[in-house]
Amino acid sequence: MKIAIVGGGIMGITLAYYLSKEGVAVDVFEASSTLGGLAGPLTLPDGVKVDRFYHAILSSDAHLHALCTELGVADQLRFRETRTGFYHNGALYSMNNIIEFLRFPPLGWIDRFRLGLTVLAAQRIQDWRELEGVSVEEWLIRLSGKNTYQNIWRPMLAAKFDGDFRNVPATWIWSRLVRVKSTRQGASQKEMAGHLIGGYITLIQAMARRIEANGGRIHLSTPVQEVCIEGDAAPRATGVRLTDGVHRCDGVVVTSQVPIFRRLIPSAPQEYHDFLAQTEYLGIVCPLLVLDRPLTGYWTLNITDPRIPFTGVIETTSYIDPAYVGGHHLVYLPKYTAPNSPLIRLSDEEIKAMWMEHLRVMFPQFDPASVRYFLVHRERYVEPLHGLNSVHLIPQVETPVERLFLVTTAQIYPALTNGESVSRHGHAAAEVVQHRLLQQSAQAFA
Ligand SMILES: Cc1cc2nc3c(=O)[nH]c(=O)nc-3n(C[C@H](O)[C@H](O)[C@H](O)COP(=O)(O)OP(=O)(O)OC[C@H]3O[C@@H](n4cnc5c(N)ncnc54)[C@H](O)[C@@H]3O)c2cc1C
Repeated sequence: MKIAIVGGGIMGITLAYYLSKEGVAVDVFEASSTLGGLAGPLTLPDGVKVDRFYHAILSSDAHLHALCTELGVADQLRFRETRTGFYHNGALYSMNNIIEFLRFPPLGWIDRFRLGLTVLAAQRIQDWRELEGVSVEEWLIRLSGKNTYQNIWRPMLAAKFDGDFRNVPATWIWSRLVRVKSTRQGASQKEMAGHLIGGYITLIQAMARRIEANGGRIHLSTPVQEVCIEGDAAPRATGVRLTDGVHRCDGVVVTSQVPIFRRLIPSAPQEYHDFLAQTEYLGIVCPLLVLDRPLTGYWTLNITDPRIPFTGVIETTSYIDPAYVGGHHLVYLPKYTAPNSPLIRLSDEEIKAMWMEHLRVMFPQFDPASVRYFLVHRERYVEPLHGLNSVHLIPQVETPVERLFLVTTAQIYPALTNGESVSRHGHAAAEVVQHRLLQQSAQAFA
């Protein structure tokens, strides 16, 4: 069985790895010159390779840990105790233990108690379906109270969703609270975050080597132009069209985001296109600030001040030893963008000017001379948006086109999309694809 996989991000490579382990002949086509997609590396002007976007692995990421062990790279995992803070009303607050939490000034005693209860309530919910029809706003006001909602949750949600979050279900905050809590270990509840030396690309390359050892092939700088679909009454994928010809195969799996998938299947049924058009995404504008010294010491600094244009301050060298990244200190300043966000249209220079101005406001001691590089990265499709009661809008792995499959982050719900959930989904989808193709082949012979 020959399968073409479109996309060499974590999803495509995990899927290819598990399929090749089962003896399936895979060809992975990746448009860019490197593997990794969103989790891929960036080469700084001084030649040092770092993550283009910030990536942490949590101590609770069980599937990733098992995969790293299976591939012999678990010894490259490094974890550190990390710290989280808040930037609120012009001041920085550490929020790492119960004492700091109890001292957090914007909230009174009752608010703090209710905020703690909100975190506990999230851990107790076993069936996320009960939150599917409840808006995140309603759920948080009910549990945390109006004051905490206005001071903490509302500005954080507005920053994350670039303004409008009225249609966001409570499942979103539930999966986030459960995941964040899972990093806190033992009685001390210390937060642990980690990484692979070299970034996710270390794991991706280890899988790529196994894929090739299993007889699979990986084609870099090879954008797929279109999925070849034949037959009007019973459409069927027969291969992929590349710039230099058609690659024929028994099945095609696309792992890109849904809008990109739609562009690759112009001849798929119109109703399917209309259905897929309902999947929307947040984008991102994410400058990487490469410094010669630490900035905050926090892994994540949450921002509740609506004047600040970025969503948070993420200092990955709080858990990555700078020695692994050329002695640099890496600070990412993401702004998630709604589909119609005016920020998407700003030039890199305009972004830089706006971001630097606000950094100086937030950190009066910040010395612009400490900046080695300021590099702006953008992506249009980053985080799938799921609305209230919208599970039925999630596209399935199987499509109406025979032998064509979609394995994408929009299918990961209500879990957050990250290396853990993506590699887990890639593994599960490999079984679905193989099983379905075997069934279809058996039917064709019968
Ligand atoms: C700012 C940010 C922070 C994040 N933080 C974390 C974190 O802390 N921890 C964590 O685990 N995860 C994190 N993630 C999430 C993680 O990066 C993603 O969930 C994961 O990388 C998605 O992988 P993917 O393979 O599904 O998609 P992608 O990485 O988008 O891969 C899709 C691939 O398909 C290729 N492609 C598209 N069209 C074609 C075509 N026509 N032909 C050939 N190839 C094509 C693309 O080039 C790309 O390589 C973060 C993501 C972002 C953006």
